[in-house]
Amino acid sequence: MGDMRIARCVADGNDPFYGIVSGDEGEEIVTQIVGDPFYQGVQPTGTTHRLEDVRLLAPVIPRSKVIGIGKNYPDHIAEMGGAPARVSPLMFLKPNTSVAGPNDPITLPSFSDEVSYEAELAVVIGRICKDVPAERVKEVVFGYTVANDLTARDAQRTDGQWARAKGWDGSCPIGPWIETELDPDDLRVTGELSTPGQEDELSQDGRTSEMIFSVAEIVAFASSAFTLLPGDIILTGTPAGVGLIEDGQSYTASVEGIGDLTNTFRR
Ligand code: MG
Repeated sequence: MGDMRIARCVADGNDPFYGIVSGDEGEEIVTQIVGDPFYQGVQPTGTTHRLEDVRLLAPVIPRSKVIGIGKNYPDHIAEMGGAPARVSPLMFLKPNTSVAGPNDPITLPSFSDEVSYEAELAVVIGRICKDVPAERVKEVVFGYTVANDLTARDAQRTDGQWARAKGWDGSCPIGPWIETELDPDDLRVTGELSTPGQEDELSQDGRTSEMIFSVAEIVAFASSAFTLLPGDIILTGTPAGVGLIEDGQSYTASVEGIGDLTNTFRR
């Protein structure tokens, strides 16, 4: 598959469809494709829309899982008061009901007063696989998107498992689309907090080259435990600068070469 931006969207209130996003910034066109690119490849139809006329959805709803990797950036481990670097990736799961799309409003969970944002590079798996060696990971990757691994810090502290803290409805916005051709090893990852009436604040600013475990190592490691299915998502960890999000604020997570993912939060 060549270098493409694959989006999932709705137009005119019809059913969701997949499309290829092309064109210069501000003038992008979405060319509708046949069915589901995870199973049917990318076959353009003759139908096009202006990007500004469609509503972007989460570029995929994973059929089975979102796998998260925790504590993968040294500066983030330090800010959390954490232990030294790990010998293997720390893995957790988010259910597919946690997935939300670009610009979706996110309702903060009633059980938490401390929800934090975490801007991350997300890997989108393209084919069924198991026990993938690191040097063959490229063959099983469909592409990359941006994620916000929202985390209820209070529940993370008190619960023995992270299921509730990281798995609540809306805790995994992804988007704006999937970039199919990207070298993931040295990309800038940023996060900007926006408060009405105040100047936007660049709170996170890191590079994937700082990651303790590379994308290839993470996918290989995850596939040693789980069969990965087309459309599964693997989050790669967040750089330093995490902080809490409040009612009325919005957060924009960005990854170089992919784009911006913005969500607004409410109680
Ligand atoms: Mg995270």
